[in-house]
Amino acid sequence: MDDHRDDTYEETELEEKKPDTEEKKKDDSGSDYEDVCFICRRPESKAGKMFKLPNHICVCDDCMHKTMDTVSQFDYQGLLNNPNMGDMNGGKGFPNISFVNLADLQGDGGIPNKQKPKKKKKKEAAEIDIRDILPPHKIKQKLDEYVVGQEHAKKVMSVAVYNHYKRVATGTMDEIEIEKSNMLMIGPTGCGKTYLVKTLAKLLDVPLAIADATSLTEAGYIGDDIESVVSKLLAAADNDVERAERGIIFIDEIDKIAKKKNTNARDVSGESVQQGMLKLLEGAEVEVPVGANSKNAMVPLATVNTRNILFICGGAFPDLDEIIKQRLNKKTSIGYNAELKDKYDKEKNILSRVTVEDIRKFGMIPEFIGRLPVIFTLEGLSRDMMVQILKEPRNAILKQYQKLLELDEVELLFDAGALEAIADKAMEKETGARALRAIIEEFMLDIMYEVPKDDNIGRVTITREYIEGTGGPIIDIRSRSAEHPDRLNVVQQTGT
Ligand code: ADP
Repeated sequence: MDDHRDDTYEETELEEKKPDTEEKKKDDSGSDYEDVCFICRRPESKAGKMFKLPNHICVCDDCMHKTMDTVSQFDYQGLLNNPNMGDMNGGKGFPNISFVNLADLQGDGGIPNKQKPKKKKKKEAAEIDIRDILPPHKIKQKLDEYVVGQEHAKKVMSVAVYNHYKRVATGTMDEIEIEKSNMLMIGPTGCGKTYLVKTLAKLLDVPLAIADATSLTEAGYIGDDIESVVSKLLAAADNDVERAERGIIFIDEIDKIAKKKNTNARDVSGESVQQGMLKLLEGAEVEVPVGANSKNAMVPLATVNTRNILFICGGAFPDLDEIIKQRLNKKTSIGYNAELKDKYDKEKNILSRVTVEDIRKFGMIPEFIGRLPVIFTLEGLSRDMMVQILKEPRNAILKQYQKLLELDEVELLFDAGALEAIADKAMEKETGARALRAIIEEFMLDIMYEVPKDDNIGRVTITREYIEGTGGPIIDIRSRSAEHPDRLNVVQQTGT
């Protein structure tokens, strides 16, 4: 029954429309039928003269004016200025619809400046003078100013970087192709991996992008595409493609993309990411969005060649030491040495004995390891190294606090016991040097709060007792005598 009713309804609708079209047809051919307004349906005799629009559409004077009024009151500006505001914008704008400012699309290709890739300057390209590249010993010397210990790592990195930029400087190779010096650094957390790379990029004056391997997934899955790391580098290079192509990409937590064991599900964040990175590591032309993280229709793309980008991967590789021990023990368990099974259990720097085979066993695929030819390890920080980190690097934490108090004309000192106590506390936390700042900040809070209160304070000495909570810092009062206004004389012990 229902169907039948529907049919009749449609028929009547169609029938009603027929005269209209016929009217128009006849009218065009000079017949006696008059025009009807497309909007209010009034004939020309009632509504007055019609405006004739394309496709035989007629609109009466009134309807035309009404339409024009509505259009002119419509707040396009509000919409343009408040894209995406939707309902929150007092009803202005459409929810979830953003508008493109057409003015932006005129002239410069319609792309705002910050999203435009800079033009390639052909002549300056690839013109790194070999004589301008710092030799390895100079690179290491500069690294020494900032990074404590890690002698082996600094040496390996200096040579690798020197070779890398020589390779870049010579451009395309003739018969002998110099291999890319991508690196894999293995070391416990907080031992200075990121810090080394940051320092290196700064002293070489090249752009650096730091990415976390844990956030990367195979293209099309939730997470960042692998190519997003190149996009980050381009941003770090101020969208200068040329500069980006000589930059450094540091991928941290690389051990987190090891092959997942015992899983039947598709490994979108592990092995697939390693697979996806192969081309980047080796050198490929990558189309990356400029000024955004993901590719979409409105974002311009720039082509970046990764051939000369230096990739450094870093990770803590937990339990890698077990794999190394197993391998070493296996060797010694043959023949006479069978009784020395736990020989390596107590060896401190077992990580430095790592081989490619161990890393493969850990879960990195051979093709991936093959593209990171420079493999080296960093040592865990000892208490002495922690103390050094506190006071020696150019921008050591203590120096920073001393500088801050210097501005209040107060001298800040730490006695040896205090430094050791801070280092001990940091060692307990097992997060490497990262813990140092947090610990110092805790103790310095009171000092930084109290010292500016009293103009008489001339010197503050932090003691072991203060750090261990059994005493206070030593406060020296500035002499108030007229001849020597800055002399320190009285020593006052305050307990907190
Ligand atoms: P990770 O090895 O986990 O990447 P980081 O490099 O981020 O550790 O180290 C954290 C912080 O500890 C750095 O910002 C740096 O200030 C300090 N640090 C770590 N190792 C050293 C070191 N060897 N020399 C000087 N500072 C260091």
